[in-house]
Amino acid sequence: MQALVLEKTRQLSIREIEIHETPGPHDVRIAIHTVGICGSDVHYYEHGAIGPFVVKEPMILGHEASGTVVEVGSEVKNLKVGDRVCMEPGIPDPNSQATRLGKYNLDPAVTFWATPPIHGVIRPTVVHPANFTFRIPDNVSFAEGAMVEPLAVGMHSVNKAQVKPGDVAIVLGAGPIGMLTALAALAGGCSQIIITDVQQPKLDLAATLGPITPVNVKKQSLADVASDLTDGWGADIVFECSGNEQAAAAVFESLCPGGCVVYVGMPGAPIAYDVVAAQIKEARVEHVFRYAHVYPRALALMGSGRLDVKPLITDKFAFQESIEAFDFACNMPPASVKAQIELPQ
Ligand SMILES: [Zn+2]
Repeated sequence: MQALVLEKTRQLSIREIEIHETPGPHDVRIAIHTVGICGSDVHYYEHGAIGPFVVKEPMILGHEASGTVVEVGSEVKNLKVGDRVCMEPGIPDPNSQATRLGKYNLDPAVTFWATPPIHGVIRPTVVHPANFTFRIPDNVSFAEGAMVEPLAVGMHSVNKAQVKPGDVAIVLGAGPIGMLTALAALAGGCSQIIITDVQQPKLDLAATLGPITPVNVKKQSLADVASDLTDGWGADIVFECSGNEQAAAAVFESLCPGGCVVYVGMPGAPIAYDVVAAQIKEARVEHVFRYAHVYPRALALMGSGRLDVKPLITDKFAFQESIEAFDFACNMPPASVKAQIELPQ
């Protein structure tokens, strides 16, 4: 099949690659429609590795995908041919201890699309477990369906934070994950969000998405804005979505006493952690790694109109333009949030 293949660092090709997949009784085959480009895809393209995951052999990129079911295994009950779906890219070992505990995202044996050596899905079809394939509501497009994967990170973060109605949250970083976390936090009951970044166009867009106060930390003090908006008390939750060393080091500054910090972004290296600042507030600190059990809820929110990801889908490319799409994503203009690739149907 024709696929977008990362041959090695900085070298992509659109070419024929042999993939032989036969659906088992509990699998479906999906014709891929749309695939979002994720920061991790770009990172593999530019650097050939993320932490311990190193690209050693040619690998198909892409893991934020939607499509149409074209074949179902004999035991599949929840899906039929023609269903529009999106997929969780991580497949855990169903018998692992992590999976049995319900924490399947933490299964050390999980395989995840476009994480070496597992192929991604910028290709015509993929075979996938029906259990990790979810029907998209009729009023939700394939493009929106392909946003469920990054949205799931935000949903999982909001679950970890245990948002209560009326909470005020700070989101550090207005990249795709920061914006989607803000939307998930609002849908989960937050009354308002303060979002930070250094790119003004991203903040301007964020401000149109709901009760969201943008703070350009190049010009404004987050501590001042947060203090003003909360009568000096601080925010109930801080979602650290920037992965930025400086931002991440100051997570406790604008947190309210007894508040919760959720580390979502992945810093490139170990960062400072102010234990005393956390202690004085008895901060609760959570971490997220991908997500579990949130796809159906994300799709339900999108289907009901309570959560709209469309404004974040800023750039579209055809499959034949995939290499341009990746070069675009490497140097994303500040007004762009999510670029997606559409496969020929
Ligand atoms: Zn992603």
